[in-house]
Amino acid sequence: MCEGLRQVREAMGRYAAVFDACLLSTEQAAGAVAEAAAIEKIAATLKGLAAARAASGGAWKGAGDRSAAHHLARTTGTSVSQASEAIETARRLEKLPAVAAAARAGELSAQQAAAVSDAAAVDASAEARLVEKARTSSLGELREECSRTKAAARPDAEARRRAIHAERFLRSYNDAEGAWNLRMRDNPEVGAEVMAAIDAIRDRLFRTARRQGHQEPSEAYAADALAELVRTAPNRSGSRSAGSRAKIIVRVDLPALLRGQVATGEVCELAGFGPVAASAVRDLIDTGDPFLAAVVTSGEQVVGVAHLGRRPTAHQQTALEWLYPTCAVEGCSTVTWLENDHRIDWARTHTTVLDLLDRLCSHHHDRKSLDGWGLVAGHGKRAFVPPGDPRHPQASPAAQSAA
Ligand SMILES: [Zn+2]
Repeated sequence: MCEGLRQVREAMGRYAAVFDACLLSTEQAAGAVAEAAAIEKIAATLKGLAAARAASGGAWKGAGDRSAAHHLARTTGTSVSQASEAIETARRLEKLPAVAAAARAGELSAQQAAAVSDAAAVDASAEARLVEKARTSSLGELREECSRTKAAARPDAEARRRAIHAERFLRSYNDAEGAWNLRMRDNPEVGAEVMAAIDAIRDRLFRTARRQGHQEPSEAYAADALAELVRTAPNRSGSRSAGSRAKIIVRVDLPALLRGQVATGEVCELAGFGPVAASAVRDLIDTGDPFLAAVVTSGEQVVGVAHLGRRPTAHQQTALEWLYPTCAVEGCSTVTWLENDHRIDWARTHTTVLDLLDRLCSHHHDRKSLDGWGLVAGHGKRAFVPPGDPRHPQASPAAQSAA
């Protein structure tokens, strides 16, 4: 069996020895890229499968290596994390026929196979969908979808958040070259805050360097940014005017936000960081961070941008006045002294979403707050009913969360 692989390799070597990209048309060159990439992916798959098998024999111990991954990394010239991922992926492929078939056919890169098999190992029913997703999306998009799939398969986001919090760490160590390294693991909402603070400084350093004609990788400036952030920390404590900080954007389905728990099929995630527990969103909101924005959705539809204060912003006020030129109660044409009314008590949501605001005249506002009347579910002008009416928003929780 190895003989066949050796022959393929020798044939490949003969082809590569005389290969001259300059002799190809640009179209032919693009074709060559596709062929070589597929070969590379097939070879990576075989390498991983063989390495996983070799690892089971423990030969790496005899070679004096610390682990099978260290052995593979040393003998193939890759990093330990890449080697360990390759072995893990190969082990998972044994139980994932669709991912394995795509990987053997050269359709998945090592990174794609790792992401898809990692998620499919948790939710086998997502296997075919994720393989298909790998064909059409970028690696970043695929990884996001995979982490969403894993989160959905482990629906208890609160338990996961607590577990990750309990295992959080920040470690620093010096490597063989004498360089200092930093590694941190924590919940995505912590990462989002840390990275938002770093990214803002990184971008400024990057722009300054570019004006001076220097250009280093963005991750180099990110390292400088963290160092600068730490050095200037005592001066920053008083003011938050550290420049144009990047926004942290939360996307959350309205029912999840109101319930304080994410149900199956609902979305609660930090843009660019993946799914988070509903309590993480509440904690972020409670920090009062002016750079936090919550995009409130209902399925794919954006219901509004939640603003984290009690009063509507100027933009929300304009939209409200346009939506409610008169009192929201059907049949009431009062236009003066309209009051903004939080359909669901602000103390419960801590957010001001346009969708949850009505404008009522002072008479109807009093009926609501003093006598318990309520507007039926929906938007714009609509019926106003007494407590006990089946259409009253408090009559059924379903009607209320659909509102
Ligand atoms: Zn009215």
